[in-house]
Amino acid sequence: MHKSGKTKYIFVTGGVVSSLGKGVAAASIGVLLQARGLRVTILKFDPYINVDPGTMSPFQHGEVYVTDDGAETDLDLGHYERFLDVNMSRKNNATTGQIYYEVITRERRGDYLGKTVQVIPHITNEIKRRIYAVARDDQPYDVAIVEVGGTVGDIESLPFLEAIRQFCLEEGPQNTFNIHLTLVPYIKASGEMKTKPTQHSVMRLREIGLQPNALLCRCERPMEKEVREKIGLFCNVPPDHVIEARDLPTIYQIPLVFEEEGLGDILVENLGLPKVKPDLAEWKKLVKRIQSPSREVPIAICGKYVNLKDSYKSIIEAFTHAGVANNAHVRLKWVDAEDVERDGPERYFEDVAGILVCPGFGSRGVEGKIQVAGYARENQIPYFGICLGMQCAVIDFARNVCGLEDANSSEFDEDTPHPVIDLMETQIDVSQMGGTMRLGAYACDLNRNSHAYRAYGQETVYERHRHRYEVNNEYLSLLKKKGLVIAGVNPDTGLVEIVELKDHPWFVGVQFHPELKSRALRAHPLFREFVRAAIEWQNRREKADRRDGEKSGAEAKTFANKRR
Ligand code: GLN
Repeated sequence: MHKSGKTKYIFVTGGVVSSLGKGVAAASIGVLLQARGLRVTILKFDPYINVDPGTMSPFQHGEVYVTDDGAETDLDLGHYERFLDVNMSRKNNATTGQIYYEVITRERRGDYLGKTVQVIPHITNEIKRRIYAVARDDQPYDVAIVEVGGTVGDIESLPFLEAIRQFCLEEGPQNTFNIHLTLVPYIKASGEMKTKPTQHSVMRLREIGLQPNALLCRCERPMEKEVREKIGLFCNVPPDHVIEARDLPTIYQIPLVFEEEGLGDILVENLGLPKVKPDLAEWKKLVKRIQSPSREVPIAICGKYVNLKDSYKSIIEAFTHAGVANNAHVRLKWVDAEDVERDGPERYFEDVAGILVCPGFGSRGVEGKIQVAGYARENQIPYFGICLGMQCAVIDFARNVCGLEDANSSEFDEDTPHPVIDLMETQIDVSQMGGTMRLGAYACDLNRNSHAYRAYGQETVYERHRHRYEVNNEYLSLLKKKGLVIAGVNPDTGLVEIVELKDHPWFVGVQFHPELKSRALRAHPLFREFVRAAIEWQNRREKADRRDGEKSGAEAKTFANKRR
């Protein structure tokens, strides 16, 4: 804890439009403070009524991010963990649904007996209680950043903004700082940057009683001094607190740009935090390596939401980290599982050095994914199957190596004669949907003679889960006999966590989600080794191509000599 011993609070709100990158901005602010030796946590409020995003379709919400303690949370928590390298918990994400649920449960219990239960103060009190609960965890944090989802002006955000207004009043200006993220569009026709949307957004905030202390302005081009001054004047913010948040080639550059813009010093100064020189050396190294990789490796990523990249956010980021660890840029080739189902795998994977099959639910595209696993198996292409991607690999193996025709997961065919993937016993009586999967971190003991063990370099690992089905242990001895390697098992339940293939350069399927534990400055071992295997595969292929080239060149020469 810093000297004053008091937690400081930074609130991040957003205006004008959604998708401006509030989550990454909040995480980047955290990095600036961490770089000054401070302990930082982040809380995300989501104003929707779902209790958590676990019940929402990826089309609605993108990826569901699972924490160690098994909460299904907003994907911004992924940014927080990747940037700050700290583990979040269910406390770090709260929705309107959870807040009302809590207040209504208390009301039914009789806790408010005699009172009318209202948004102010009961809902706002519950919001404030949650901020304190995060900030004061086991030991108090130096800084708690609170991000409010949605856009200022939405009906749903009002109770959160009101709670923040009260909070700032109670804690005082020396302990609270409000940051508002807005958009400053460039209008081509007039050749100007426009400040009006920002002015209006701040106006809405001030109507509620919140005065931003700094503005982060998303813009496509550099902001002139006059623009900053104008925004400052109209929004009642000092011009040097109008921070440029320009579009950047990589999100990992954002902390560095914010620092250059002086945001770190502004925060420290205004919150009375110790003034120390920030250490961003590792971040600078990271950005440099992202920007100048020594090679490129193409990897296919096969799923059913390929047009909706937010569904696979953590996988994409894990590839960035793994690329850095291998000094390479991973070029992702998106392949729709349904296209493979229609056309067969050949034409989609000829030009890649590795294949990842994504997690998923429901039968759409599954037959395509099973074909992809078989294609990687037969063609010796490095394969990484995550959750459903692992289950598909087992189904392919059962059908095409063990000869169990019609083997399937009972998720897709309840009447399959060979349910090699089956509902977990603990799931049989589950009738409620929300929060009832096998969720969160579980132990996995590794087989010493496996790719997984070589990657992790330790015998027991803890990885996060989100699934209802598992490898059916009744088929285990047959699968093993035919060459499937059981590389990782949960020690308490015997549940298969990792499968691999013998006689294959790198074929790994995992029941868990390694992408959720990959960090910007610490690539996940399995992603790192998968990318390494893909690079080796690419090297071998290039060598073989060269040899073929030389050979056909030599043949052509002999042929020409003979004719002469
Ligand atoms: N649908 C599968 C299951 O529930 C896989 C889940 C996943 O890929 N996350 O077991």
